[in-house]
Amino acid sequence: MRILLVEDHLPLAESVAQALRGAGLTVDVLHDGVAAEHALASEDYALAVLDVGLPRRDGFEVLAHLRGKGRTLPVLMLTARGEVKDRVHGLNLGADDYLAKPFELSELEARVKALLRRSVLGGEQQQRCGELVYDLGTRRFSLREQLLSLTSREQAVLEALIARPGRVMSKEQLADQVFGLDEEASPDAIEIYIHRLRKKLEGDSVRIVTFRGLGYLLESTGD
Ligand code: CA
Repeated sequence: MRILLVEDHLPLAESVAQALRGAGLTVDVLHDGVAAEHALASEDYALAVLDVGLPRRDGFEVLAHLRGKGRTLPVLMLTARGEVKDRVHGLNLGADDYLAKPFELSELEARVKALLRRSVLGGEQQQRCGELVYDLGTRRFSLREQLLSLTSREQAVLEALIARPGRVMSKEQLADQVFGLDEEASPDAIEIYIHRLRKKLEGDSVRIVTFRGLGYLLESTGD
């Protein structure tokens, strides 16, 4: 899953990004409000973490603009300590949660996961397709109760597929989920990850179907 982090304090941005990447997320990091607005308009994010005090355009303006366009992705605001009016203002503008600085990285990670669970999986803790089960709490896949060993790229592809049951995902859409802004997004590399995933799912009750020229879909072969 791909998320956007907008924070102008560079060391903080780096440590937050590292923690979230460690949790298996693809994280784009930007440092000002104008760049954030451009990225939010052009990229497909599952969630945004938005600092309030940002250069060029503050976090409130970015949030108001986003909601004004009808975009519903969850937004976690980072506010200065004790600024109750900031929190209230953010929530009124449509923020889903806030965290006052300074915060523990583990708390931020837990809140991000909770927001993703609510929005992406509709509140479900687990998503399943045949005997393949994805647990959003642990962010692990298992197949017939055995944990599946996946690289972070394979994981991102499979997450994107299992989150959209019955929907064909194009190579470009999958690449958007797998590669961050600062990486060379390569739709052709997706074929390699699909090939590896198929090997890992081989002979089981779930498979990845190719729709030539359109993309891929995850389906259960049983029932
Ligand atoms: Ca700031």
